[in-house]
Amino acid sequence: MADDIGTPPSSRRTVLQGMAAGLVTAAAVAPHDAGAASAPATDTAAPLVNPETRYPRPPFPRQSQPWPGLAGKMDPRPDHGEKSYRGSGRLAGRKALITGGDSGIGRAAAIAYAREGADVAIAYLPQEEPDAKEVIDLIRAAGRKAIAIPGDLRDEQYCKDLVAKAHAELGGLDILVSNAGRQVHQASIVDITTEQFDETFRTNIYALFFLARAAVPLMPPGSAIIATASVNAFSPSEILLDYSATKGAIVALVKSLAKQMVPKGIRVNAVAPGPFWTALQVSGGQTQDHIHQFGAETPMGRAGQPAELAPVYVLLASAEASYITGQVYAASGGTGVG
Ligand code: NAD
Ligand code: MG
Repeated sequence: MADDIGTPPSSRRTVLQGMAAGLVTAAAVAPHDAGAASAPATDTAAPLVNPETRYPRPPFPRQSQPWPGLAGKMDPRPDHGEKSYRGSGRLAGRKALITGGDSGIGRAAAIAYAREGADVAIAYLPQEEPDAKEVIDLIRAAGRKAIAIPGDLRDEQYCKDLVAKAHAELGGLDILVSNAGRQVHQASIVDITTEQFDETFRTNIYALFFLARAAVPLMPPGSAIIATASVNAFSPSEILLDYSATKGAIVALVKSLAKQMVPKGIRVNAVAPGPFWTALQVSGGQTQDHIHQFGAETPMGRAGQPAELAPVYVLLASAEASYITGQVYAASGGTGVG
């Protein structure tokens, strides 16, 4: 069931008045854990920071949560840009639906979109309500409309209803971020049950198909579809066989759909993250040894934080990216993709 948490007009006014009055934070905002909670737009660039040492490095504490996991229970907590992302009106008035918007990469995109001026609907599993509630509050704090539409993307009818509901409650739909994903590690192909194979495909590739098919007729020219793929599409891990196959399929679907959508004026792109510190990894996505050393194999020697991907999702959604379609954007700490 949808939980429409509209924006109080007064809070939007406050934000706009604050911006107009030049009430902006100074550049003394630390990159990760300091700064104003709303991180308003400013004409000052973020401080120079060495990316290699910007964020926590492995070893990480061994930890495991029941699927789908909560970002709020991770140690250390991921950085989704809650205190650092600063918008500059790049998506003012846009209407975005983000699946898996409660946590991880989807949450980082949701925060960034709201601070860039978009109204945002997020989809997630009912068990993830505590994470989702935080995101809804952050979208509202940015002065934007927030719509929560929990449900299971493996269900075709839910996918159809999700798009229809987001479109109706946002008053339009011009950005679709198909980001939710399922990842279950298995050492051998003989350990992968038909049920697991089926669920990975339904979550990662069927849902993208169901959502895009429902959204395309509703999206005006200038709209954008963005799918979250993975470096596993190009360099598949031996313990992520079914997952990697879905990510390869996402890349192919995106490239095909991008060509098909040119006459409709809808751009379609994918993002291919390397290792990012999210709930997916600690709720069955990796072995405990991989969690302990998460990101160590990259040239930077650390995991990415979801906040570090937000600018890519903003770029791909924005009007400035009008010649960018059918592309895959990677962010993987120095590991070349392809
Ligand atoms: P995450 O756990 O924070 O987000 C995944 C989300 O998928 C969950 O929050 C959940 O809401 C959603 N989801 C899963 N199954 C669902 C279902 N049946 N119905 C509805 N929602 C469902 O983890 P994340 O890492 O931010 O994952 C986001 C995307 O990034 C995924 O597609 C993942 O494959 C991809 N990715 C992640 C990494 C990484 O290292 N974290 C690397 C490459 C790609
Ligand atoms: Mg989640």
